[in-house]
Amino acid sequence: MNAQLLSADERRSLLDAETSGQFPDARGRFGPYGGRYVPETLIPALERLEAGMREHLHRADFQAELADQLSNWVGRPTALSYAPRLSAAWGAHVWFKREDLAHTGAHKINNALGQALLAQRLGAKRIVAETGAGQHGVASAAACARLGLPCIVYMGAIDMERQAPNVGRMRLMGAEVVPVTGGDQTLRAAIDEALRDWVSDPMGTFYLLGSAVGPHPYPYLVRELQAVIGREAREQFLKRHGGLPDAVFACVGGGSNSIGMFHAFIPDRGVEIIGIEAGGRGPKLGENAASLSYGHPGVLQGCYSLLLQDENGQIHETDSISAGLDYPGVGPEHALLHAAGRVHYESATDAEALDALQECSRLEGILPALETAHALHGAKRWAEKNQGRHALICMSGRGDKDMPTLQRTLLGDAK
Ligand SMILES: *Cc1c(COP(=O)(O)O)cnc(C)c1O
Repeated sequence: MNAQLLSADERRSLLDAETSGQFPDARGRFGPYGGRYVPETLIPALERLEAGMREHLHRADFQAELADQLSNWVGRPTALSYAPRLSAAWGAHVWFKREDLAHTGAHKINNALGQALLAQRLGAKRIVAETGAGQHGVASAAACARLGLPCIVYMGAIDMERQAPNVGRMRLMGAEVVPVTGGDQTLRAAIDEALRDWVSDPMGTFYLLGSAVGPHPYPYLVRELQAVIGREAREQFLKRHGGLPDAVFACVGGGSNSIGMFHAFIPDRGVEIIGIEAGGRGPKLGENAASLSYGHPGVLQGCYSLLLQDENGQIHETDSISAGLDYPGVGPEHALLHAAGRVHYESATDAEALDALQECSRLEGILPALETAHALHGAKRWAEKNQGRHALICMSGRGDKDMPTLQRTLLGDAK
């Protein structure tokens, strides 16, 4: 389904359904997207998870425990920072929602902690997770250590080599990191392995998934756990500025920090919402990871959404300087918001992200994650045509983890 092919009426009715909370529907769908495209063996585990989630997630005692951990351990609410020197340089007012200040350095901890707490309620004895770049593995290891749950992280053997510091962090926090030597030895093989583990013991094991992707109910569960970002930001902004921002920005990989940031603003029709994907080296298939900008509908990891695939439906290789955005699919709720025309999606290239990262670091003393730098570029582009207006950007994480890449690309280290 292509957003351009829908009539205005069809778009409006999709958006009305989204705004009034009708999605996901009983089959786990956001309009045409989402669902549960998995082998028969996984259905009981997903149904059990969905039932447990419905029983606990919105109960007052669960929410009180979550709020307590978010405040005492994660460091919420995270700050809302005005960026005076970037504002002067760009000619629009720039504000940051500071998820980079959350424990472990990014928004991922909101989700990892929430799912680990849910796992505990459901009586799980161990947590399995998969990780590519290692950031979700670190957040999962931290949350499990905090709650005293054993944590097994599957990671492609190639990724383990590339992300050695994160492997060390996970191990120091007590997680067992299992190298996956089959398949492509990266994230996709690691996901297969984690699912295999989960299916072998769906009662005792909880699968902690890292973004707003995968089969129902994960896209919904992750959205609910990340929506705290936009709820806080909206309230903080109203208090400081006395009104809403003109536009809200976030980078989009699988789509968790962005859906978390956007969700509270979706009913505010006067607020523009803009998601920025990884434009990599350019617009050709294989050069980027921009599934909403360049993808087509298909099924990946249990979910119907927009994907980067070739004409035979084969999932295509992606490329981005930021490991966290380097994913061929995107969460189904984004595909819906794209079709409904409520969120505008565009991309920023590697070079544009690197420029924005340097500008933010020099002018604000904040070294953003490479992922986040894509959102910064999107806001800069918007500011050119919206001088004097207010942009609110989700600072999804800090750039310390990207130092090896930055050393190679910006600081001229030979290695
Ligand atoms: C993992 C990551 C992302 C991308 O993941 P989403 O699920 O799209 O949010 C973005 N920013 C940072 C800092 C990350 O670590």
